[in-house]
Amino acid sequence: MTERVITLRNFFEQAREGRLTGVRCGRCGELAIPPKEFCLACHERAWAPVPLSGEGTITTFTVIRVAPRAHAAAAPYAIALVELAEGVSLLGRIVDVPLEKVAIGLPVRFRPLVTSDVTSVGFGPR
Ligand SMILES: [Zn+2]
Repeated sequence: MTERVITLRNFFEQAREGRLTGVRCGRCGELAIPPKEFCLACHERAWAPVPLSGEGTITTFTVIRVAPRAHAAAAPYAIALVELAEGVSLLGRIVDVPLEKVAIGLPVRFRPLVTSDVTSVGFGPR
């Protein structure tokens, strides 16, 4: 039993500091991010934390023009699925890239989006 298994709360605490951490299954080697309770591939719970580079490319994206109230001031903005260098994909908001430049294959780098009490996943230009 490892005591260093990363929880979802750890994940966001580390993300807030700019570190992206995934978990690798000790049984089948599946990599997951954000951390999940059980491995989706083999249903084992034998995670070990893996630091990720945070670098990836956009595989798909959507432009949000009418945002939920909390994000209304930021609209329009793009939400993208980013495939990280390590092969896992993560959803995040694209920042500091003009909307017309957001494209499939665009290289991006993880960036935490921190408000007073919430940290979410963002990606900015590399
Ligand atoms: Zn597994």
